[in-house]
Amino acid sequence: MRTALTPEGDWRDRAACAGTDGEMFFAEDGEGIDRAVDVCRACPVKRDCLTYALDNHIRAGIWGGITERQRIRGRRTPVADVAPTPRNRAWTPDDDERVRELLAARRVPRQIAADLGRTLNSVQHRIARIRQSANEAAA
Ligand code: SF4
Repeated sequence: MRTALTPEGDWRDRAACAGTDGEMFFAEDGEGIDRAVDVCRACPVKRDCLTYALDNHIRAGIWGGITERQRIRGRRTPVADVAPTPRNRAWTPDDDERVRELLAARRVPRQIAADLGRTLNSVQHRIARIRQSANEAAA
């Protein structure tokens, strides 16, 4: 096990989640995941946290603001400090994964657009593309 000791001590000592309900980082619903990721977003040790999970092959839970599904799909960077601002920025595989998670959590396009900081029109088009790709893959 690799422990990331820093001049300030163990990274866990500076975790934003210290003292919070650890269960929230194992949420499976979209709202719970969002709450946990929001905590991670502001965490000063999110990179150490994600590295720890990857190095130790930890499957379950949210680490560095990254969900288990995102890690399985190869995500290796922690959640961004702040959401990108342009509402029409290019879609990334992580964006698509987030849309899938929110759809699975029964979020409607308007909520997804608000969550991702994008326009409703852009989200509706992306959902259509994601469904089309899924149908083509299943055919
Ligand atoms: S990144 Fe999230 S789970 Fe990891 S230490 Fe920080 S707040 Fe806790």
